[in-house]
Amino acid sequence: MERFYKRKAPDTDTVNNNRNSCLDDLNWEVEIKYDPGLRKQIDAYHPNHREKVRRKYLENGPCQPRKCNFPVSDIEDKPRRFIPEWFDEFGSWLEYSESKDRAYCFCCFLFREKKDAGYESFIVNGWNGYHRKGRLKSHVGDVGGLHYNAMKKCDDFLQRRQHIDVAYNQISETAKKAYFTRLNGSIDTARLLLKQGLPFRGHDESLESNNKGNFKEFYDCLAQHDLELRKAVSTNAAANSCLLAPEIQRDIVECFANEIVHSILEELGNDVFCLLVDESRDVSCKEQMAVVLRYVDKCGIVKERFVGVVHVTETTSSHLKSSIDSLLAKFKLSLKQVRGQGYDGASNMRDARFSNINTIGELSQKMVETGKHRCYPLVYRLLKLVLVLPVATATVERCFSGMKIVKTSLSNRMGDQHLSHRLICYLEKEEMKKVSNEAVVHRFMTMEGKGRKYDL
Ligand SMILES: [Zn+2]
Repeated sequence: MERFYKRKAPDTDTVNNNRNSCLDDLNWEVEIKYDPGLRKQIDAYHPNHREKVRRKYLENGPCQPRKCNFPVSDIEDKPRRFIPEWFDEFGSWLEYSESKDRAYCFCCFLFREKKDAGYESFIVNGWNGYHRKGRLKSHVGDVGGLHYNAMKKCDDFLQRRQHIDVAYNQISETAKKAYFTRLNGSIDTARLLLKQGLPFRGHDESLESNNKGNFKEFYDCLAQHDLELRKAVSTNAAANSCLLAPEIQRDIVECFANEIVHSILEELGNDVFCLLVDESRDVSCKEQMAVVLRYVDKCGIVKERFVGVVHVTETTSSHLKSSIDSLLAKFKLSLKQVRGQGYDGASNMRDARFSNINTIGELSQKMVETGKHRCYPLVYRLLKLVLVLPVATATVERCFSGMKIVKTSLSNRMGDQHLSHRLICYLEKEEMKKVSNEAVVHRFMTMEGKGRKYDL
């Protein structure tokens, strides 16, 4: 670029030059005219702008309208007009201006020097000698001629562009691949820390630090043993640091948690469920309310699933209720599904396979196994209602002991949302195992309002 600018001394002979040299950038919408009769000549632009103007024109290609009304005029007593089929023969350069009803040469417009003879006819004024088609052939001329040289400059320019484009695409393809390799490295690291309930951050995460915190230390360790990740990390150190940033760590955790909650809600479907709610103070003395969904899954087995903690600012019953409402709304669950639907009638069942059953839980499982839950839907529903009764449960207690592990006094500045996400991943280990990296990558790349670097 630098070379190109220096090749020619800037000329100052036109007003346009002076005006354009003051502009940092041109308004390309206005500058680049499709109609060749309306264009400003290339040398009317400041030398610094000419290469870019040429590139813009080359991107658009020659103006070759075929469907417009080519006006007929009498030339030497015969009606004549521009013939669009000429574009087939001279397609690489011939242009037609609708506004001027004249033909132009695209290549000469872009690359011919002003001092050259015949500059006016196909560049400045245009040509309309439609009775002499031979003029088009003579414009092309011989090898080494003016048009030929302009044409060659066009080709060179395009090839150079193409070369740059190919090289650029290769670089960006490698960069994109490296980005996703690093993202997967971050996801693997987060997965391990979440499972173990370990803090992510360190006190000193600088390069010189002896302990950069669990996330960075584990990530580095992973990169040491994973050749692909090591290469991806070394290709672009600046971009690499982006995928290790605390916000990215939080986003990945959120993706994991959402994926888990999503599969829990899918299992629950439109069925009834019971809410188990308890509150406790965490280490930073915030009132936290743990929410557990209790429901019967498709195999008739009772499930208790932790779906989050809500930070409660006041413990009045109305406030607690609205907190639960908003949580349910977030999951698109309805309060109607909460246990309390009535039933009428009951049936008795006499079946040898049911004789050894001791608990209601076993009964419900047996019903699904034998298909009886379809014959006796009301009994099955009754059973499910009994099973989701808020009996004393260890699950909620488990949440609070989990909270003590995840939210240690070391990381007591952790946000409520983030704490909730971390707890879901820590407590629902079974579901966590099922979450694939692909699912997390997909959620991560499509998170709203994040403007990720690449599209999926
Ligand atoms: Zn030409």
